[in-house]
Amino acid sequence: PVALVGVVKQFPGLTALDGVSLELAPGEFVALLGPSGCGKTTALRVLAGLESADDGHILIDGRDVVDVPTNRRDIGMVFQSYSLFPHLTVLENVEFGLRMRKVEASERRRRATQMLNMVGLDHHADRFAHQLSGGQQQRVALARALVTEPRVLLLDEPLSALDAKVRVGLRDEIRRIQTELGITTLFVTHDQEEALAVADRVAVMRAGRIEQIGTPEELYSRPASAFVADFVGLSN
Ligand code: ATP
Repeated sequence: PVALVGVVKQFPGLTALDGVSLELAPGEFVALLGPSGCGKTTALRVLAGLESADDGHILIDGRDVVDVPTNRRDIGMVFQSYSLFPHLTVLENVEFGLRMRKVEASERRRRATQMLNMVGLDHHADRFAHQLSGGQQQRVALARALVTEPRVLLLDEPLSALDAKVRVGLRDEIRRIQTELGITTLFVTHDQEEALAVADRVAVMRAGRIEQIGTPEELYSRPASAFVADFVGLSN
C-alpha cells in the first residue's frame, strides 16, 4: 500500500496540508477531489517528493520514504500540461526513464514499444512529440510514466487541458490500463463527475484536510457534510 500519514505542509502564512492521512490499497485507483486551492497538488507533490513535508510520513510498500529523493521513490507521474521533450521522438520520450536507469538499448526499445502499443501509439513511434495532438501527447506521457514499472502512478489533472470528447475517451483508457497493470494510482482532479466516474474511492479535500473518503456510492448516499454533498452533488 501507499499512504500519507498525518502530512503537514506549510507555506509562508498558509497551511496547505493540515494533517492529511490517506491510504491506497494495492492496485486501487483513488481520486483526490476538491476545489481550487484546497491542497490536492501539494499532497501529490509531497507524495512524489517534489515538496518536503513539515510533519508526517509517506509510506510506499511499508517503507517510510519521507527522506528519499523523488527519483528513488519508484513513482510515475503525469501532469496537466504536456511535459514531453519536443525535440525527441515519441519512442525516445518513452525510453527516457529507461535510459536514465542504464537499461540496454534493445531492451529499452522492446519495453518502450510495448508501452506505446498499450496506449495505442506504436504507429507514431518515430514522430516528434510536438507533432502529436494534446490527447496523443498525454498518452505518450502515460507510457513514459509506466515504462519503468513504478509502484505508484500519480496523475495531476492529466485531462484538464483536453477538450471534452478526448477527455472522456482518455479517462476511460487510463482506467483500463491502470486495471490491466494493477498499479496503485492517485488521480488529482477538481472535476467531480470525472472523479466519480473513474475512481474506486474518492477523497474529498477541503482547505488542507480530507473531509471524507469513500466509494462514489458512499459519497452520494452518505455525504459526511454539506460541503461534500454540495461538491459531489449536482449543484456544481
Ligand atoms: P488547483 O486545483 O487550483 O491546482 P490545488 O487543490 O491543487 O488547487 P494546491 O496547488 O495544492 O491546490 O495549493 C494549495 C495552497 O497552497 C494554495 O493556497 C496555493 O496558493 C498554495 N501554494 C501552493 N504551492 C505554493 C508554493 N510553492 N508557495 C506558496 N504557496 C503555495
